[in-house]
Amino acid sequence: MNCWHCNHELIWGGDHDIEEDDENFSIETNLSCPQCGTFVLVFLPKIYTEEKEEDAEQ
Ligand SMILES: [Zn+2]
Repeated sequence: MNCWHCNHELIWGGDHDIEEDDENFSIETNLSCPQCGTFVLVFLPKIYTEEKEEDAEQ
């Protein structure tokens, strides 16, 4: 994934499990840009992980 502002490749900072703290999202991923310093947070919707789990059971 590239930076929104300068298009440099972002550095993955880590994933946080926020399932118990957040109503709508299960994983928070943070990324940062080494070139311009932009910080990006990505939230994965719970509905997505729930669908994944259903697929795995079948
Ligand atoms: Zn950038």
